Amino acid sequence: MTEPDTLARLRSATPQLWLNPQRTHMPAGTSLALDTTLRLADMQAAQDRFTRFAPLLAALFPELAASNGRIESELLLVPAMQQALGLKPEMGRLWVKADHSLPVAGSIKARGGFHEVLEHAERLALQNGLISPDGDYRVLAQPAAQALFARHQVAVGSTGNLGLAIGVMAAALGFRAVVHMSTDAKAWKKERLRQRGVQVVEHSGDYERAVDAGRELALADPLCHFVDDERSLSLFLGYSAAALHLRTQLQEQGVLVDAAHPLLVYLPCGVGGAPAGIAWGLHELLGEHVHCFFAEPVQSPCFLAHLLSPEGSHRSVYDYGLTNRTEADGLAVPRASLLAAQVMRPLLDGVFTVEDDTLFTHLALLQETQGLRIEPSAAAGFSGPGFLQSGALACPGANHVVWTTGGSLVPDAQYQGFLQRALMQKPRGQ
Ligand SMILES: *Cc1c(COP(=O)(O)O)cnc(C)c1O
Repeated sequence: MTEPDTLARLRSATPQLWLNPQRTHMPAGTSLALDTTLRLADMQAAQDRFTRFAPLLAALFPELAASNGRIESELLLVPAMQQALGLKPEMGRLWVKADHSLPVAGSIKARGGFHEVLEHAERLALQNGLISPDGDYRVLAQPAAQALFARHQVAVGSTGNLGLAIGVMAAALGFRAVVHMSTDAKAWKKERLRQRGVQVVEHSGDYERAVDAGRELALADPLCHFVDDERSLSLFLGYSAAALHLRTQLQEQGVLVDAAHPLLVYLPCGVGGAPAGIAWGLHELLGEHVHCFFAEPVQSPCFLAHLLSPEGSHRSVYDYGLTNRTEADGLAVPRASLLAAQVMRPLLDGVFTVEDDTLFTHLALLQETQGLRIEPSAAAGFSGPGFLQSGALACPGANHVVWTTGGSLVPDAQYQGFLQRALMQKPRGQ
């Protein structure tokens, strides 16, 4: 497909798969040319931080007692969903990486969001002599640490899920937590945060406006840490640590990753931080036979728009005449993260776009075939394998991993509404 065709489809909100002509095979272990160099050790450090905090998290959140404070998700083989999608066994096997069920946050934001709050808490506690790196972090639930954190604020701008993750974790540690949200953020997410003592500030306009407003307010307050979804390295590294666990899960399930067994990973993309962190991590650990594809709504394809734009520019989906309106609220972002785009330019295999109707169809299909409960954003990846089924990567040895990024905390009334909407749509050929 030529570039003009791709741009025409982007502008007309027509679903498509775009393959990245700049994809190079980065050998594992090579660091990227960023202002800050990313290394495997940084990913491991994020993982080690989660491990240090696990006993504290198990004490703070009853739902983490069973996993001893570990926040992880299952890797599930989903043959019934594969069949329902019409994907033949000759193109490989279909898996789900079930981040929709990540505990406490109910979305992929548990990875990046929690990591950044924990890193901030750790820094403050070390500076104030409350912990040592090899000590027992459960002292952070004691009054001395709580008093320290209560003097500090953690703020974030979000379409919903990042706010939920940051707000819940910051409040549990004793921080004052402020979440800046766009007015289109879902009411139940705002309500859930307020119930946990988080201050929710609503901004007219979209996600970008909420982030800008939050960033500005936070800069004026030296005791406020602003979690910057568009620029944060801590978020990125928290997401990347998912690759370490996935590698272990693949080994446990006997899944090989080599030329005859390519690993294709389909990741829903908003600003790009979560999918880029994970994709970078997987490339570092598993090498050139990993192929990552980002999934975006047809009205919010900010990552694709950015990669198609002249280098040095930073265009939004509005510049292409799109509305940024989608039921996939976790992906309703007008402009890509420059950090994520810089990392992904040489690593990304491609981007595909999805209509909202298809999201609901796939959301309902996953419930029907596998009994899994996901939100619309988390359904975006399921179109990927279909786009690729005639390509060389879809071979009998291939493994296709669709990352389901959120949904287990969606209230029942909302979720039933999603299923209803799928029923009311005209039947589709996919
Ligand atoms: C945030 C989010 C994503 C995408 O993450 P980005 O870092 O914004 O690209 C995907 N799915 C869900 C459910 C999310 O909440």
